[in-house]
Amino acid sequence: MTTIRSTPAPSPPSSAASRDAREASVDVAILGGGPAGTAAALTLRRYSELSVAVIEGSRYERPRVGETVSPGIRSMLAFLGVWDDFLAEGHLTAFGTSAAWGGPHLLTREFLFTGRGDGWLLDRGRFDRMLARKVEESGGLLLTGARLSSCARSPDGGFRLEVVRPGGAAAIRARHLIDASGRKAALGRRLGARQRVHDALVGVAGYYELPGDRACPQHTLVEAVPDGWWYSAPLPGGRMVAVFMSDADIVRRRRAGEPSGFEDALAGAAHTRERLAAGRLRPTLHVRCARSQRLDPVAGPGWIAAGDAASAFDPLSSMGLGFALASGSNAARVAHDVLTSDGSLLPSYGDSARRHFEQYLDLRRRFYALERRWPGHAFWARRQQISAATRPIEPAATIA
Ligand SMILES: Cc1cc2nc3c(=O)[nH]c(=O)nc-3n(C[C@H](O)[C@H](O)[C@H](O)COP(=O)(O)OP(=O)(O)OC[C@H]3O[C@@H](n4cnc5c(N)ncnc54)[C@H](O)[C@@H]3O)c2cc1C
Repeated sequence: MTTIRSTPAPSPPSSAASRDAREASVDVAILGGGPAGTAAALTLRRYSELSVAVIEGSRYERPRVGETVSPGIRSMLAFLGVWDDFLAEGHLTAFGTSAAWGGPHLLTREFLFTGRGDGWLLDRGRFDRMLARKVEESGGLLLTGARLSSCARSPDGGFRLEVVRPGGAAAIRARHLIDASGRKAALGRRLGARQRVHDALVGVAGYYELPGDRACPQHTLVEAVPDGWWYSAPLPGGRMVAVFMSDADIVRRRRAGEPSGFEDALAGAAHTRERLAAGRLRPTLHVRCARSQRLDPVAGPGWIAAGDAASAFDPLSSMGLGFALASGSNAARVAHDVLTSDGSLLPSYGDSARRHFEQYLDLRRRFYALERRWPGHAFWARRQQISAATRPIEPAATIA
């Protein structure tokens, strides 16, 4: 059986057979250039001879939410060959997490006592751009600002993708596809998979400018409130992010996606408010889907999903980025195995995705069960209900 190399190729050969922007032929096409998609591309470029194209809808210009990562990210970034680049990017060291959860007082857990080193508070836009740049440097084809307009199976068993870009349309022929398009799972759903959705959680993120002399503890702070919970974290460049997590219908009712409603919601979060007191809220807020969901099936003939497209977790778990990098890399190994060997890795990828998600649901149930101060409030009443459910429930409301 041919396996993916365990050490990087000394000098990776160029990726696309044809690098004409309008016509490319690759072994693996990846939809989505976030952490999962770029991890998949880097794994293939560093550890195999396969050619890769990453189709990314954005130009990495929009702010990206999701910035706290645990110390464990280091080994994954080293495996992808980007650890030194990561260190050069100026992300903040995170020393731990403080939480007012289940009671009004803050409890702090320092990473120091885990023996695994420090965590990180990322500038997510910078992080994702760095990974995308490394894909190009490794010989991968990166198409940004690219919208998938069609995806058809070709007679040889591969796929023909058409993408629209500002400069015109482009066609990509690929032998295998990886869906790394995030919570939309745009490719998997197009190919017939269904999303099993477990709640209607959304996050409203606001960015604060802090005065230059203001030092803020390099902790992520989590605080439960009657309508949901907040997290906040300092970011590189004298900024702070504060995110209100609640259900889509509650966010709409409170108008928490608008600055006045956002600050009104913040009034109930004493610890978070205190650390933001000296900051100035930027006028634009960012509403992001944060539902717990799983793609079913997670793979099919010639395609596989990774990252949020495969399994998306409540940000309370801080599992998203680590999972995106690891599952992107694992999906790349499976695609390599399908293309160069007998595809025997595929069933275990699906089984472990299912098992991992069930373990996550149990963890989520136990976390939410710790907070019992507001049983009469819809957000917490739903959490008690969903934590008892064994099957997905219909979300009370979804975000458009
Ligand atoms: C409010 C919030 C807070 C979070 N906080 C944390 C945290 O503190 N720590 C943590 O570990 N995780 C956190 N997460 C989760 C984390 O952000 C995600 O798990 C992670 O970004 C998943 O990476 P991904 O590559 O799978 O998907 P994404 O990061 O969503 O990347 C998907 C990429 O695909 C592109 N794309 C989408 N559709 C298409 C299309 N049709 N065509 C082309 N391109 C497309 C997008 O532009 C994007 O670049 C948070 C999430 C939310 C919503």
